[in-house]
Amino acid sequence: MKKHFVVLSYVLIGFMTLSSCKTVRKLAADHNIYSIQDDIELGRQADQQIRSDIKNYKFLTPKHRNYKQVKSYLDRIQQRILSANDVPYEDVFNYNIQILKNDVVNAFATAGGYLYLYYGIMNMLDNEAQLAGVIAHEMGHVAHRHATNEMTAQQITGGLLALGLKIGKAEEQAEQVAGLAYNLAFLKYGRDAEEQADLSGATWLSKTQYNPYEMQGFFKKIRDAKRPPEFLSTHPDPNNRITYIGSVLKKMGVKNQGKLYEQEYKAFKKLLY
Ligand SMILES: [Zn+2]
Repeated sequence: MKKHFVVLSYVLIGFMTLSSCKTVRKLAADHNIYSIQDDIELGRQADQQIRSDIKNYKFLTPKHRNYKQVKSYLDRIQQRILSANDVPYEDVFNYNIQILKNDVVNAFATAGGYLYLYYGIMNMLDNEAQLAGVIAHEMGHVAHRHATNEMTAQQITGGLLALGLKIGKAEEQAEQVAGLAYNLAFLKYGRDAEEQADLSGATWLSKTQYNPYEMQGFFKKIRDAKRPPEFLSTHPDPNNRITYIGSVLKKMGVKNQGKLYEQEYKAFKKLLY
């Protein structure tokens, strides 16, 4: 962990004078106490822990006969987003998609580039552009370091910070980090972070061949789902997101056009089984 005492005490003073969740999150985002290297290390540790939790996470592994095809299809989407944009930390983070076979309508990202897509969400979507929207959104969380921002905010509110100031021994801090890493899979980001991920996602998508308005299509699917998907437990109201993404794209002068790759996507979904 980076010892960042000046910022820490500043944040601590902030904690004592400010109480609203939104304000604390804003403060945390401006004064993330973790380093870029911490993001990478936390993401790696969280990944190891998620992988070892075989009861809850069923990974698609190279043993699956279509693994290579599935993985390269997803990698290609991510590559299109990366090569058309200056995505923050793309040279240092390990932007990488992993596939979970659970029938959960959700996707999540931790820190340092690790993205996880569930079968449930891939099956629900209609075309590749919608999936690109989900991937771009999750990449937004990683690029803006929302996991460590949120951890910083939690430390402020939890008063853990005061404790951290006293400890300071490297081994003890490493233990703390290991304990924190697994929680990355369950972090719920604030509305501002979700909006930032939508904004970046839509902007990045608009530079690719995909129709960026399909990001709205994804939220419409979520909104109209018969059972409320898991996604809603970690994300704000889809109607607000649909409106927000539409207004952002219009403001940027982006036309409602671009590729959907519906047929390719249909074929891709078949590979999952
Ligand atoms: Zn999100």
